[in-house]
Amino acid sequence: MIKRYMTFEKNNSIAPYLWTILCILPFYFIFQSPSTIEIVVGILLTLVFFILYRIAFISKGWPVYLWTLILIGISITASSLFSYVYFAFFLAYFIGNIKERVAFLTLYFIHLISTSASINYNIVMHEKLFLHQLPFVIIAWISVILLPFNIHNRKERGQLEEKLEDANKRISELIKMEERNRIARDLHDTLGQKLSLIGLKSDLARKLVSKDPNQAREELLDVQQTARTALSEVRKMVSSMRGIRLKDEICRVKQILKAAQISFDGRGEFTLSNVSLLTENILSMCLKEAVNNVVKHSEAKNCCISIEQSWKDTILTIRDDGSFKNDKEMLTDGHGLNGMKERLEFINGSIELLTNDGTTLMIKVPNDVKPVEKEERN
Ligand code: ATP
Ligand code: MG
Repeated sequence: MIKRYMTFEKNNSIAPYLWTILCILPFYFIFQSPSTIEIVVGILLTLVFFILYRIAFISKGWPVYLWTLILIGISITASSLFSYVYFAFFLAYFIGNIKERVAFLTLYFIHLISTSASINYNIVMHEKLFLHQLPFVIIAWISVILLPFNIHNRKERGQLEEKLEDANKRISELIKMEERNRIARDLHDTLGQKLSLIGLKSDLARKLVSKDPNQAREELLDVQQTARTALSEVRKMVSSMRGIRLKDEICRVKQILKAAQISFDGRGEFTLSNVSLLTENILSMCLKEAVNNVVKHSEAKNCCISIEQSWKDTILTIRDDGSFKNDKEMLTDGHGLNGMKERLEFINGSIELLTNDGTTLMIKVPNDVKPVEKEERN
């Protein structure tokens, strides 16, 4: 909000001065009038205009129509009595700020028609003061046409940007929540089980210590072994939480494929630029699962992994020359491909599976940082 306010200030630095001039200007025109009654009427009209203008800004629903129509009426009266057309600026600005589309369009056209009519009337009547300021009148008339749409579109864009920001915040919250759930699940499944086992075994050992010291020693050895396993699992969990870089995952993939006697062909630059750590982690997880599938199901001899980066996206392709096991049950039962799809959806990525002539998985993710933006920041 503060950011938006500051941008407003920056973009409209001369606007406050212009508005101030427009607030004072009607009095200059009014005081040109020879009759005192007209001067009093003019001052009253101007004051009523500004009061109603303020009320119109805080109104909602049908009163908006009422206040705007009265304001348009005052504007036309001021232009025919005092040749003052610049209330039209205020109205154009106000109409541009109306959110509801029907109200906006209705009042926009009423204002445009009435202002055009009053300008034409003054020209036809050869009003001297009016004809003197004709270039400014034309500027006012062009503003009546363009300003409301300009403001309306800017507001709509601002609202959309706000919604997008909210959606992004919600997505990152969801990602955090999902990650917390995963950690909780992992802790429960690994550490939870092991710790309760350690508890049971040490309890048993305590009871056996006097009756059967040998058995007690066996149980304690088990406790020690379980504690070691738990420690190594915690280490694995922690290292997986740190996030995997694609380059590191490629090293692991090479080892797995070598062990499975599948030759590896790597193409492209595996050190990614312009993608966030989250995107890179998801790509690494997808690569891991895809290669697991190649090893588990494909019976391939060769596996080619390539990465292509353009200014807008990154494409990771895993191709094997085996045969795709087109088992419908397995396709729905397995978590691998579905998991990849779900993870990629989080970052607006997509996955394509081609199964003619071996299996090809094409994973596409949008780049998070565009090169130009990055350069600008540097
Ligand atoms: P999980 O990944 O949950 O351990 P899974 O590997 O069977 O189980 P998915 O990874 O979703 O599940 O794969 C679904 C199915 O698609 C596999 O069971 C297999 O039949 C087929 N499949 C996937 N990748 C390949 C591949 N590279 N070559 C041959 N068949 C494949
Ligand atoms: Mg799998």
